[in-house]
Amino acid sequence: MRNPSRRVFVMTVMAGGSALTATRVSAQAAAPALAETDPQAAALGYKADGSKVDKAKYPQHVATQVCSGCNFYQGKPTEPTAPCQLFAGKKVVAKGWCTAWAKKA
Ligand code: SF4
Repeated sequence: MRNPSRRVFVMTVMAGGSALTATRVSAQAAAPALAETDPQAAALGYKADGSKVDKAKYPQHVATQVCSGCNFYQGKPTEPTAPCQLFAGKKVVAKGWCTAWAKKA
């Protein structure tokens, strides 16, 4: 790369990309917990503690179905909370559950 303005451009783009990634990671880390009273959460029967799911209302729920084992859970299974693809900008609890649960692929 002999053209200095091209080098500056490439370095600026690379620095900008790193800053955006760092911002996104930090935004996920600071995301608030999903409230069970959130309208979308309530519509999907979300419970932060899957053992408290109303078995009469949600007979399809089984104890082994928890957020950390769900395909939509965006964290490692060992993380206590993580973002969920269905609830943008919020974190769900690893031992939580909702009716959209789908086994992690
Ligand atoms: Fe939990 Fe999956 Fe429902 Fe998200 S979609 S709240 S990870 S059960």
